[in-house]
Amino acid sequence: MNNLKDKLTHPVFAIVLQCADELNVPAYVIGGWVRDLLLGRPSKDIDIVAIGSGIELAKLVSKKLGGGHKVNIYKNFGTAQIVYGDYDIEFVGGRKESYQFESRKPSVENGTLEDDQNRRDLTINALAISLCKGDYGTLLDPFNGIDDMKLGIIRTPLNPDITFSDDPLRMMRAIRFAAQLNYTIAAEPLAGIVTNKERIGIISKERISDELNKIMLAPVPSVGFKLLFDTGLLHLIFPQMVLLYGVETIDGKSHKDNFYHTLQVLDNICKNTENLWLRWAALLHDIAKPQTKRFEPTHGWTFHGHEDKGSRMVPKIFAELKLPLNEKMKYVQKLVLLHLRPIVLAKSEVTDSAVRRLLFEAGDDIDDLMCLCEADITSKNEYKVQKYLKNFELVRHKLKEIEEKDNMRNWQPPISGEDIMKAFNVPAGKEVGLIKNAIREAILDGIIKNDVQEATQFMITKGKELGLRYVG
Ligand code: ATP
Repeated sequence: MNNLKDKLTHPVFAIVLQCADELNVPAYVIGGWVRDLLLGRPSKDIDIVAIGSGIELAKLVSKKLGGGHKVNIYKNFGTAQIVYGDYDIEFVGGRKESYQFESRKPSVENGTLEDDQNRRDLTINALAISLCKGDYGTLLDPFNGIDDMKLGIIRTPLNPDITFSDDPLRMMRAIRFAAQLNYTIAAEPLAGIVTNKERIGIISKERISDELNKIMLAPVPSVGFKLLFDTGLLHLIFPQMVLLYGVETIDGKSHKDNFYHTLQVLDNICKNTENLWLRWAALLHDIAKPQTKRFEPTHGWTFHGHEDKGSRMVPKIFAELKLPLNEKMKYVQKLVLLHLRPIVLAKSEVTDSAVRRLLFEAGDDIDDLMCLCEADITSKNEYKVQKYLKNFELVRHKLKEIEEKDNMRNWQPPISGEDIMKAFNVPAGKEVGLIKNAIREAILDGIIKNDVQEATQFMITKGKELGLRYVG
């Protein structure tokens, strides 16, 4: 395990070896690429640290690589980059960092390899492999990162209290890696996060949501959210979600804990989709339950309208988390709004008109909506689960049947507002809207067929009721 030269198959490594020797500058591949190599997760980002000038090393490497592999130099940062196919190779000089309390931006001076490994966030991210002539391929693991990998443990190289206080983003990174790799955070760094949680305030919202999104894309995101909750970070970065936590009991009747229910729905959906925004819809589907919770002596706990209120909460949550306020957000809103609809269908008799209406409202997102609803079945009662799943199958079947028959996705009624204005020789106004809606509803309810002839007849009748004269 200690010599990994056989694993350094990328052609750049042999060139760096030559150049480092020529310039007499020790060089190492370090950080995420080494971690991912050992975890068997191929990575395209290679970070090379030079004990000397990273830029000079990169220039020589680029020259020797030839073939148009030019070097991009970022003088202000003291870094250089070579793009090699789809590999991004970064060069930097070894650094020693010291921090001020108000900022996560350290003052930086030149440092040894050891200094550079000391400034890393986690032991598994502090591994380096030598690209030097004497010991090419040797693994340098001063903090036993390999042992932590074997045990599935997240630890910091130095005192976690200082590591997290210096750069509080590392708390999010520690939790994100725990979620991505399904690792446990050791007791000391976990306590370090609890102590330093308020420091997250100096981190930009964009960086925080970048890590949140990585947690969302983990195979089992609940691992990350439980850690965020248990350490108290979630209360600071996403308080609306914390309100879902807890169970209330009145007259011996309890509702379920919506925090853990939500996490289960999220984990469920992750088995079936990589779509980040569908995962967000799962996370937010019940977000308004705390605000709509009522106890009705006859019915027990109810959350009437939580889908509508939840959908209206989405823009504020997205804005606060600096998530995109575009069609992705609208998609999440739509799924939150509609998330009960297939369940209602599955519980009752599935009528054509209810299915038609759902197809009309969900449009192209109908399959994602069904995926969300299936993930939402978290009952411990296996009989109920099977019953709902079976009913969903029926709903899916009906959806397909009606889709084929009526072509309702992206549907537009056969008569437009302009047609109505012409037919009655009236200007745009309230009546036109009323007739247009009535036609749409009649088709959705199956009262008339989805064709021009029946819709025209219906329009004439409706117009008459409103005192309009049909002029053809
Ligand atoms: P990913 O590519 O999954 O975001 P990564 O750790 O591989 O994660 P980078 O964020 O590019 O990728 O970081 C590269 C390396 O830099 C890390 O492996 C770690 O050694 C170090 N590093 C990154 N961020 C920090 C930080 N906030 N504090 C200390 N070291 C860091």
